Amino acid sequence: MTQPSEAPARRPADAEQLDVAIVGAGFAGLYMLHRLRKLGFRTRVFEAASDVGGTWFWNRYPGARCDVESMQYSYSFDEELQQEWRWSERFAAQPEILRYINHVADRFDLRRDVVLDTRIASARFDEATACWTLQTQGGERIVAPFCIMATGCLSAARLPDFPGMADYRGKILHTGQWPHEGVAFDGLNVAVVGTGSSAIQSIPPIAAQARHLTVFQRTPNFSVPARNWAMTPEYEERWKRDYAALRQRARAETRSGTIYEFSDKGALQVDAQARKAEYERRWQKGGANFMHAFNDILVDRQANDTAADFVRDKIRETVADPERAEALLPHDHPLGTKRICVDTDYYETFNRDNVSLVDIRATPIETLTEAGLRVGGRDYAFDAIVFATGFDAMTGALAAIDIRGRDGLALKQAWASGPRTYLGLMSEGFPNLFTITGPGSPSVLSNVIVSIEQHVDWIADCLDHLRQAGIRTIEPEPEAQEEWVAHVNEVAHRTLYPQANSWYMGANIPGKTRVFMPYIGGVGAYRQICEQVAANGYRGFRLMPAPGADRLESLSVAS
Ligand code: NAP
Repeated sequence: MTQPSEAPARRPADAEQLDVAIVGAGFAGLYMLHRLRKLGFRTRVFEAASDVGGTWFWNRYPGARCDVESMQYSYSFDEELQQEWRWSERFAAQPEILRYINHVADRFDLRRDVVLDTRIASARFDEATACWTLQTQGGERIVAPFCIMATGCLSAARLPDFPGMADYRGKILHTGQWPHEGVAFDGLNVAVVGTGSSAIQSIPPIAAQARHLTVFQRTPNFSVPARNWAMTPEYEERWKRDYAALRQRARAETRSGTIYEFSDKGALQVDAQARKAEYERRWQKGGANFMHAFNDILVDRQANDTAADFVRDKIRETVADPERAEALLPHDHPLGTKRICVDTDYYETFNRDNVSLVDIRATPIETLTEAGLRVGGRDYAFDAIVFATGFDAMTGALAAIDIRGRDGLALKQAWASGPRTYLGLMSEGFPNLFTITGPGSPSVLSNVIVSIEQHVDWIADCLDHLRQAGIRTIEPEPEAQEEWVAHVNEVAHRTLYPQANSWYMGANIPGKTRVFMPYIGGVGAYRQICEQVAANGYRGFRLMPAPGADRLESLSVAS
């Protein structure tokens, strides 16, 4: 393992000039920096947190773990890196992933261009100079012709705005902003609000520590067991022997950028006994591989019902108290249309004496009180309340920055009825502003590192091309954007996904327009589309040449 090399970059001088400003130092921003630096662009990354890591910096709640296997949830851009790094488990836990990101930052000497503790408050495009001016919360300005938002899809943590939040005297925690010093729950009476992936991971370890844990559930969720195991030399070797080819397969031939055991059969093409045997086999192996038992689970409601029934039966088998089991059964959405959860002992935890479940579907939380919270007129007292209430997904981190494009157009305004992008990479009216894994791209429906690498490589190649061709601005053509938005929507509606009130639909945020945000066409097909667009002279983008030689200065190649 490399030693931390460089101190973090110095703070920006006022009106610092760059070729490209990157916002966010997670997996996306770090790799973007690496690529652009190699191409000779003057680039820096601005990061609100006190260290690199993005989502893995913030989500330190007990039990936080990736549900994509670690051999696949890692960068593929450097053969030596992927050969030398050794994962300790099938599904890596948050501390290990954060160590990995730090290792990458050091190994590629990235820290010297990452400015930490610096939140970007606004970004404005100036038509006359064709430059973006970013302003930090501290008032410093950064000027660059190109700006890349690597701000993440699940990074704007959301606390519900219950009345009385300020009155509560105990500890308020959000899984997505977990205190770095950790939280000792021993002897405490704790509440968890929410039953999404973060809750399902954190509930078992919190229950094991706390005196009592009360789970407040609005919507029961489907979860499959992780069956995590310590990495074996054989498994590691199997991947590493053929890493480049396997990564290529994940990129080009899969929908989710992850290699699973795919099936070429529909669920109703086999008889009930064979179907159950297949579900059981996958349930025992663990992980999201369960979703691939048959090839129509996410497109055919009847097929989906067979998988959903199987999981509901498992919940009934696992949870001893039949009434409680019934309360945990998901009924309101097809399996997988809210992101499938992957757990360790989630349902088993409801057999513990120190765990209670409160259904808040019919009677929501009314208010927080000094001592706890009130539901249906009943007061509950807690030492700590953990909000596992999710994120303003996909658009929240962008909306938190006051982004103004051509003629002062606010991104929030342009996206008021749902995000509008071309390929999830750019939005009309916002020249030279790129989003990595933005809405309208596969992003959250994929192994996000695969999607990050694809976007970063595409953007890096694009900027290199623009520089060589003397292009000053790039921006989607309105018609190309309209067609893409319609296509994203149309493909989504061929599946069962829009049937769920999910964060994919913006349904978890009161008042947010409901539209299916990620592109469901699959990473392989999407990559081809992006490559064809580039090969055809960036078809669908308007490329405007610079009026004079100024452009060559503003896009100077660092010596
Ligand atoms: P989430 O899936 O949005 O779940 C939020 C939970 O809080 C839901 O149960 C929701 O209920 C509940 N909730 C929200 N507002 C509420 C309110 N006002 N009152 C009561 N309940 C409320 O968020 P998350 O669990 O943080 O997960 C988000 C995504 O992050 C995941 O889907 C996944 O993509 C990613 N993630 C991945 C991992 C992993 O790799 N293992 C782990 C954690 C997160 P409703 O369902 O009724 O809205």
